[in-house]
Amino acid sequence: MNKAFYMLRQFALTICFVALPLSAIAADYDLVIINGRVMDPETNLDGIRNVGIKEGRIAVITEDQIVGMEAIDATGLVVAPGFIDGHQHCVEPYAYRLMVRDGRTAIMDLEIGAFGDKLDEWYKRREGNSPINYGVAVAHEFARAAVLDGFKDWKYLYTPDAFYSRISDGWAKTRPSLEQGNEILKIMDEGLRQGGIGIGSTLGYMREGVSAREIYELQKLSGLYGRQISIHFRRTPGNDVDEVNGIQEMLANAAALGTPAIAAHFNNPGYNLVHELLVGMRGRGYNVWGEIYPYAAGSTALNAVFLEPEVWVKTLGYKYEETLQDVATGEFYTEKTRAEMLKKEPTRPVIVYKMPQEAIVDWIRLPGVAIGSDGMPLLPDEGLEWDTPYDDLPNTHPRFAGSFARVLRLARENNIPLMQAVAMTSYNYARPLGDMGLKSMQVRGRMQKGMVADITIFDPETVTDNATYEKGTLPSTGIPVVIVNGIVVMKDSAPLKAFNAGQPIRFEPRKEGRFKPLSIEGWTQQFYTPPVDFGGGVPGSQPNVTEAPPGSQADIH
Ligand SMILES: [Zn+2]
Repeated sequence: MNKAFYMLRQFALTICFVALPLSAIAADYDLVIINGRVMDPETNLDGIRNVGIKEGRIAVITEDQIVGMEAIDATGLVVAPGFIDGHQHCVEPYAYRLMVRDGRTAIMDLEIGAFGDKLDEWYKRREGNSPINYGVAVAHEFARAAVLDGFKDWKYLYTPDAFYSRISDGWAKTRPSLEQGNEILKIMDEGLRQGGIGIGSTLGYMREGVSAREIYELQKLSGLYGRQISIHFRRTPGNDVDEVNGIQEMLANAAALGTPAIAAHFNNPGYNLVHELLVGMRGRGYNVWGEIYPYAAGSTALNAVFLEPEVWVKTLGYKYEETLQDVATGEFYTEKTRAEMLKKEPTRPVIVYKMPQEAIVDWIRLPGVAIGSDGMPLLPDEGLEWDTPYDDLPNTHPRFAGSFARVLRLARENNIPLMQAVAMTSYNYARPLGDMGLKSMQVRGRMQKGMVADITIFDPETVTDNATYEKGTLPSTGIPVVIVNGIVVMKDSAPLKAFNAGQPIRFEPRKEGRFKPLSIEGWTQQFYTPPVDFGGGVPGSQPNVTEAPPGSQADIH
């Protein structure tokens, strides 16, 4: 090794994050990460390596010495693929610092999603304005709100609008006519045309309003583009029958259509069977997967249909006094105080205790499962900025700030292999999304040469969540460095305002949509048996539509 090279290496090793003057060296890389424990869930690489980054990509992973313009000493630290959160309802400037503190390099709202007609505008608002990568699916719920409630007051274009659109209930309870159904599907087709990452459906909130036919047609629509549907299942939260039956609806459709599907937050009763169903289908070549958030409690709006006394108390056997907590005040509701608050503020955020604490560790043991935080928008959000102090942020469920570090901590405390936890935080979302043709996910979630340099560096001995139900906006710790698209967005655990770092995660917009309106005639032409005895029938004639079997006309309406 030549001497100058050796001295430069020493310099890089001892002085972290010092940008070396260009004239001083002939650096091969823009940035190097030296001496870290590099972990790659796809190839199972787990060893001390040096990583060289050039033009936003991982250019080399090697045991040889390398030199860069900037160097990070990662001795004693894990160098992992950047964490990918496929279920984050808050893609806003005030959220970014907490996301980065928790190691997240990409956040996507795939469960509720954005209003189909305005999906492109959702992306435009974030261009050059986000330090981490961002993406969104097309919202089933909002297409219904537009058609069935006439909701038009789009301010956010995605999940936070639900706190206003959910004040009406047509979106949840109305069975659309065939014409309305076609309108709903047309709005969603427009969102897919504009490049949405498949469809998100909050079916669990619309359990009476949405027919089996409607869900099937949604999956068929996303399938026209080869994209996923993510469903908060019918009858979730429920028991170990309802929950599983809910997911079976989606999986049966996915099997019949051959389309990708995500079981959103299946960290509920029956999770072990849900996991087995997903593993079984993947074994048969279907691209279906599930996600969990590592907490015993959930969070939603007070007027969620499953919190009504007939469901929550009578059917599921919970008591409000023990399970339904106000996010802002920390007080538990009674049947009476819940009814009073519903009149004043129907969509007020609540925390819902629904699972035993011990189950959390079980979920982290499930191979192939991804982490989706289900982080909620903070309310009220007026005046919240990128640098609003963590203590001044309104309270929220701790999954918002702590989900990913929590998985790493629980894996450490419960002797779960670190590679399993690392796969959950990144690869398990990137791989299936990439497999359905989402190019930006084919090059993320992996520590390999040629991949995009989205990298999270953490201390395996100390990494931990700190957010609690009382204070849900406390940042995670033990994650000193986060790199997005080759740009350092956090060093020494201090997030940097690198707003040019984040890139859109989306499909290329297409010229034309793919949806063809549904009709009774179309169905009968496709599915009725043509006359076998052509002598008696008239070839090509229309069958008698008044005798349509159950499952066509009746279920569409
Ligand atoms: Zn949900």
